[in-house]
Amino acid sequence: MLAVFFCAIIKLVTIPVPIRVRLAPSPTGFLHIGTAQSAIYNWLFARKNGGTFIVRIEDTDRARSEKQYEDDILAGLKGLGLEWDENIYRQSERTKMYEEQVNKLLDGGKAFWCRHTPEELEAERQAQLAGKDLPRHICVHREDPLQRDGGVIRLHIDSNSTRKIIVDDVIRGKIEFEERLFGDISIARTETNVLFHFANVVDDGEMRISHVIRGEDHLANTPKHILIAEALGFEPPRYAHLPLLLAPDRTKLSKRHGATALKDYVKEFLPEAIFNYLAVLSFTPPADKEKISREELMEVFELEKVHKTGAIFDVKKLEWFNGEYIKKMSDDELLMMIGQKYEKILTMVRERMKTKKDLEEFDFFFETPMIDPEMLTWKKSTLEESRTMLARVKNIIEKDGLENLRSKLDELGAGDRGLVYWPLRVALSGKKASPDPVDIAIILGKEEVIKRIEKAI
Ligand code: GLU
Repeated sequence: MLAVFFCAIIKLVTIPVPIRVRLAPSPTGFLHIGTAQSAIYNWLFARKNGGTFIVRIEDTDRARSEKQYEDDILAGLKGLGLEWDENIYRQSERTKMYEEQVNKLLDGGKAFWCRHTPEELEAERQAQLAGKDLPRHICVHREDPLQRDGGVIRLHIDSNSTRKIIVDDVIRGKIEFEERLFGDISIARTETNVLFHFANVVDDGEMRISHVIRGEDHLANTPKHILIAEALGFEPPRYAHLPLLLAPDRTKLSKRHGATALKDYVKEFLPEAIFNYLAVLSFTPPADKEKISREELMEVFELEKVHKTGAIFDVKKLEWFNGEYIKKMSDDELLMMIGQKYEKILTMVRERMKTKKDLEEFDFFFETPMIDPEMLTWKKSTLEESRTMLARVKNIIEKDGLENLRSKLDELGAGDRGLVYWPLRVALSGKKASPDPVDIAIILGKEEVIKRIEKAI
């Protein structure tokens, strides 16, 4: 009998809490790359632990929420291969549930109507600041009989409490907050119109979210969320606050630093490269392996090892990742992406291309380039010398074609190869930097090469 009892206990103790995580974006803007990174970490954590990844659209702020942003967010997540495991949740479709929960708190005396005017609240704030106190609202209306004439609904917090609220963050460790400093927390405008903090906590509780993995900018909200969860009778989830993405000047990445919307990066970069770069920005895989596949990341990802400090988002580094993923593409995949016309120069393109923008570098293969005469002279030589050299090259090609061109040009330029190769490169490509001029000549063919040299001369 006793053994059965202990077995039951052990079973109870060892049943792991199912891992359930969520991305909870507000559809008030296009999917931010920082949010995309949070999505990646949530998704990896779920996949690593056999958990469930949920997407919840937090559209309680109806005035600022737009359908186009929701569409963009979902398309962005799909594009990165971050499939979600349950139907999308939208807070706008869950108002009934929030209403029930608000009423429960009101009926239970945990929440109350506060009718202080904005002016009164501001006067209280100023007085607290003047007394070097932390601004918070300690409401005297709590004891009033229920009144619904305006104001907001607040959760009562004991302003004399000596309790410390401890956020035991998976990434940051324990962080303490004093309960008494929160004042009475506003949770709803009316029973049917709840505020962000309230809807967020109700949802995490109702959805049995086990880990809230979100940006560091929410850390200050977390003790409030714990207080609300306690009032509602929910076991608060574990929290993990991710470091923010930073701009090169180490300030929070924002529009003034360039594009911050994922959609702007998707135009130019491969989803695999974006995924890989964002994943390793704030998490270092074992053995420092930074080029790593999604499957491998699913195996090695550890939430506790996500960095505490923000990482700089560097577009140059993203370009490098993209170039690496382009090198790995098959010929067919690459041609499908950039167009069949690049077939004859595919090796060259693969070697040099980091993003689609780089394809412009190869335009000269398809149209005769404009040539800047200034560019034709090599170092201290003269335009006349370049002209003479090009004429010699042209003679060689007219006579022998492109066969063994390199050794003939080397001979011609013995002493200073630049005297030959420089003007030839400019004549063929119109550029100071290009693939090897002999390689270009072979792809262009004898006739076109002669035409371009003549034009340069
Ligand atoms: N809706 C919040 C935001 O977009 C996210 C809150 C959360 O992840 O808990 O910032």
